[in-house]
Amino acid sequence: MTLDITTLRVAFGAIAITLFVLFYTVAFRQTRSAYSAWWCAAVAFFFIGSSGYLLDGTGHQVWANPLSNTLLVLGTVSVWAGARTLRTSKPAWLQLSAAPLLTLLASAVDNPATNTWSGGPVFLGMMSLTIGLASWELWRLPSSYSRVQAPLAVASGFLALLYLGRCIAFVAGGQDGYAFTTYFGSGITTLITMLLLVVVSFSAAALSAEQIATDLRTRADRDALTGLLNRSGFLDLASVQTDRLARTDRPGTLILADLDFFKSVNDTHGHAAGDTVLRAFAAACAETVRSTDLVGRYGGEEFIFLLPGASVSRSEDITRDVSMALRGHSTPGGFEMPTVSYGVAAVEAADYDLDAAIAAADQALYAAKASGRNKSVRAIRPAGKGPGSSAEPPPGPLRVPLAPTVPPRGKQRPLA
Ligand code: GH3
Ligand code: MG
Ligand code: MG
Repeated sequence: MTLDITTLRVAFGAIAITLFVLFYTVAFRQTRSAYSAWWCAAVAFFFIGSSGYLLDGTGHQVWANPLSNTLLVLGTVSVWAGARTLRTSKPAWLQLSAAPLLTLLASAVDNPATNTWSGGPVFLGMMSLTIGLASWELWRLPSSYSRVQAPLAVASGFLALLYLGRCIAFVAGGQDGYAFTTYFGSGITTLITMLLLVVVSFSAAALSAEQIATDLRTRADRDALTGLLNRSGFLDLASVQTDRLARTDRPGTLILADLDFFKSVNDTHGHAAGDTVLRAFAAACAETVRSTDLVGRYGGEEFIFLLPGASVSRSEDITRDVSMALRGHSTPGGFEMPTVSYGVAAVEAADYDLDAAIAAADQALYAAKASGRNKSVRAIRPAGKGPGSSAEPPPGPLRVPLAPTVPPRGKQRPLA
């Protein structure tokens, strides 16, 4: 069977344009994600680039051949850029432009008027390199990212190897060499690329649909102002985490934090300044707690933490660190950051009850406010539930012993 390269190229172009239209209307217009935008760009480059080869053998070959090579490399660079957006939002423009520019240069100086393989080794090498980089980006995503990242990585890895084989065969035996024409000819490559284009487009559409679902889930669980978990998002994850602590019999600590006299920040400096303080508090938490700790915005200027594996005294250190980190942030008008009061309750052995821990931390927070603010107060859990609980149940919140960890302003200890 002989694969007629012109017919194959026309078929490739027809499939590419169909995929472009389908992908643009179904995936891109719904998600508007960076990933689907790059994939649309890639398919468009593949379509225009491969169409340009139809001008080979005409008077236009001199510009069309180098341009086609460059556009195809731009297509694979777009695949790589799209894969990068799944991990990082920053496109590396310098790296992205290097491969197409090199291809253009190599093709332009390699007799493009008569040579249909102008700049061949550079073109094939750049195709292999950029598709390989796309595959590598997909492998580096956490395995939980998506169901389709593995097939996408395999498909692009396979294509990268195919182009590497072509490049080696071209360098070793030239464009008329046995290996290049028999195993890596344009016909078979166009056919394989066509199949992979379809596979990858469907996987990319599935990935975009998954991204929408993830985005919706994130929006439902997150507080828009601070980016922290919202109340229901926190409670969902915290109950799973509390069950896990109970199963493994490990301690944990629950903390409620409330910014002191926060209303006066709004009243004096404006609501936008208040929002900046709330975001700074969220950043101070992120700088201080571990990635396995949970932090949420409980409502207004109240925040909630679950620190698995942390003792109460360790958690008191953490509250001091959070307050210190908050003071390190600047405010819009240069005013002083508000102080913070904390209620700290153990989520302890034989009583892994999240609601009870929240209630206890709330009482302790109330006591911290009542006794002058800017401090952590440790809660006493009701007696008889676990080892170490007091034999006598406390009659009310103010029986909670006070343990200031953050000295009042003006009497601060030097920083360690
Ligand atoms: P205390 O020390 O007793 O906690 O006093 P406070 O002023 O911090 O507490 P209060 O409950 O009187 O006021 C809380 C304020 O938080 C009132 C409300 O307008 C403000 N607030 C709640 N949510 C937001 C928000 O998203 N942005 C801003 N800027 N302010 C908010
Ligand atoms: Mg407050
Ligand atoms: Mg409050």
